[in-house]
Amino acid sequence: MTDTAPLPVITPGSDVVIVAVDGPAGSGKSSVSKQVARALGFGYLDTGAAYRALAWHALAREIDTSDATAVLEAASNFDFSISLDPDAYWVRSGEADVTEAIREQRVTDAVSGVARVPAVRRAINSAFRQLIAASGRPGVVVEGRDITTVVAPDAPARILLTADPAVRAARRSAEISGSTAADVAEALRRRDSSDSKVVDFLTAAPGVAVVDSTTLDFDETVAAVLAVARRELAAADRAEPGTGTDGKD
Ligand code: C5P
Repeated sequence: MTDTAPLPVITPGSDVVIVAVDGPAGSGKSSVSKQVARALGFGYLDTGAAYRALAWHALAREIDTSDATAVLEAASNFDFSISLDPDAYWVRSGEADVTEAIREQRVTDAVSGVARVPAVRRAINSAFRQLIAASGRPGVVVEGRDITTVVAPDAPARILLTADPAVRAARRSAEISGSTAADVAEALRRRDSSDSKVVDFLTAAPGVAVVDSTTLDFDETVAAVLAVARRELAAADRAEPGTGTDGKD
């Protein structure tokens, strides 16, 4: 299927195929997943955006994001919406468009605090499942930290996208102005360390394919992830009971 191929029509709520992509910050996960979604004609769900939007919502209310009870309270009146269209990406908290604001450093610094609260994760994960089921797409590429293990452990294609910490820091540093490379590397290390206490996204769970983007450029990484996704989706299709028959046997 090409980038411009029309999406097959499916009934909302019917089974939506999930391509799960996990990995640390700076692995190229978001931009790669978006491009993979386009190539497959799938939707794209950026789960980190939900945690970021909740951190933004908490900060807007001057809530201490290291206080789990206060974060839970903030989550109880958090009205989050996100586009699953890889070509029209937006994130909202209530009426506010926070697409850009959730990338600010103050939000990045606060996000691990909100993401470590188990009840928050459960609520957000259930919202993800509803968003995916109602996507109106044949499939969704879902990217984050715990998609291959918690959100969609039964997904037909599960991928861990990794890269050396130094390469990830260099990529992030190139995206961010006003910070030194050393500061970016240190902030990344701190966030990985904090996030990995909640979910292990640095080692692949059984059945999860690893793509290491350390020596790959963007196009090569997209090609590598697409190859794995297509291979796994085809294998899952073949394993489907009744597949390959006319259904009369
Ligand atoms: O992917 P991104 O860097 O935007 O994620 C922001 C933060 O959201 C992560 O640092 C992590 O704390 C949290 N997160 C998470 N589980 C996910 C996705 C993101 O805990 N599935």
